[in-house]
Amino acid sequence: MADNTKFCPECGKKVAANAVVCTGCGVQLKPIGLGSGKNKMVAALLAFFLGGFGIQWFYLGKKSY
Ligand SMILES: [Zn+2]
Repeated sequence: MADNTKFCPECGKKVAANAVVCTGCGVQLKPIGLGSGKNKMVAALLAFFLGGFGIQWFYLGKKSY
């Protein structure tokens, strides 16, 4: 899907991927594909992996107990 649109997290309206404000509800959006977005992506991935590991450990611990 090579579209340059995204959906507003607030109202779900389809807006341009580089839009900074939703045209539907006016909420502030974060443009994707910019340098500043990379750190957030890494942080999100880290959180995901850490969370995944945490859940995995919890699950394994729970299972072995
Ligand atoms: Zn919106």
